[in-house]
Amino acid sequence: MKQRITILGATGSIGQNTLAVVAMQPERFEVFALTANGNAEAMAELCLKHRPEYAVMADEQAALALQRKLGGIQCEVLAGESALAQVAAAEQVDTVMAAIVGAAGLMPTMAAVKAGKRVLLANKEALVMSGQIFMDAVATHGAELLPIDSEHNAIYQCLPKEVQQPLGHADLAQAGIHQILLTGSGGPFRELPLAELAQQTPNAACNHPNWSMGQKISVDSATMLNKGLEYIEARWLFNCKREQLQVVVHPQSVIHSMVSYLDGSVLAQLGQPDMRTPIAYGLSYPERIPSGVEALDFLSLGALTFMPADPARYPCLQLAIDACWEGQWATTALNAANEIAVAAFLEQRIPFTAIAHICDSVLNQLNRRELNTVEGLIEFDGEARARARQQVERFS
Ligand code: NAD
Ligand code: MG
Repeated sequence: MKQRITILGATGSIGQNTLAVVAMQPERFEVFALTANGNAEAMAELCLKHRPEYAVMADEQAALALQRKLGGIQCEVLAGESALAQVAAAEQVDTVMAAIVGAAGLMPTMAAVKAGKRVLLANKEALVMSGQIFMDAVATHGAELLPIDSEHNAIYQCLPKEVQQPLGHADLAQAGIHQILLTGSGGPFRELPLAELAQQTPNAACNHPNWSMGQKISVDSATMLNKGLEYIEARWLFNCKREQLQVVVHPQSVIHSMVSYLDGSVLAQLGQPDMRTPIAYGLSYPERIPSGVEALDFLSLGALTFMPADPARYPCLQLAIDACWEGQWATTALNAANEIAVAAFLEQRIPFTAIAHICDSVLNQLNRRELNTVEGLIEFDGEARARARQQVERFS
């Protein structure tokens, strides 16, 4: 039986890499549905090539445009948020790649979880927002969660079986684990004089030294809020206590993360900085399949270096670490404020350094509260976005 796959966010960087791996093994995988936000042109190209049964556009107008472009081919075009959830939860689907960017991915990813699918999680913002609720839903509905974010995929690969499944419930110390070491490159501004940070353009921020990714995550890598979101993501995925989680800057992006054991052993996963590796791992787990990525050549690799993250250069990282242990309200507020601030930076409405100021100020304006439902989270997310927009206005 072929594995039937829905790809949420098919036109994005992760979506296209997933399709590249899937297309290498037509005897193994079948594309059931592809989804995208508004780019009908890019979606039409993917549909003609990969022939899904369903194509969903979040935007209604884009769905009409897609329908026209697909003309005669057999593919049902749907529109809107409920259709995203529908193709994520459909009975025919085995595996859902959750690769929408930002909080917009929460509801469709949750739909896949609640339908008990194998969920390949790239959309870290969904987990950052919903943390405990998300992990509880995975357990309640018998979904199988596999991390795709390269660091979390690396950590997963270095964990013993009893921690891998069911994910997020094992006691790490009991499993012999001392610490999880989350590596990050430090982004494109790691060596820039601090005084020059404020003048950096979106193009410069998106010019990552090692990885090619979507714009939002590229800016997050430059502020290292990406590592902060990943810290929160790791806390939930691996059930870490504060002292069990540490960030290490590793500029070469060869080691994708590590697990340090109580006996002094450290296990690491290494590879090219290419998302097709973790994607192939998630698609075929527990087997291994070719991904199109070449093995590392150690004889030409050169030095691997490690250092702490400088808090003056990366204030967003500390905001995220503090929010992680403060509670769900704080991680939701931080994620929402960051999405608004990054979008404003990409539109050149605020300077690069304002991203951290806006996140900090939104967190300071909002009060601690208990958030126990997805609806409550989404409402609070809206409140944090409104505060962040007010802050953006101050720069315009
Ligand atoms: P991207 O911007 O390249 O693609 C985003 C996709 O989401 C597109 O298909 C877009 O159409 C869709 N989308 C955007 N807004 C939407 C909305 N409101 N409703 C429905 N669909 C919407 O992003 P990406 O770089 O592929 O990242 C996707 C996710 O994976 C992010 O959460 C990111 O943090 C995570 N991730 C990405 C990488 C990477 O290498 N790109 C690595 C690790 C994790
Ligand atoms: Mg990552």
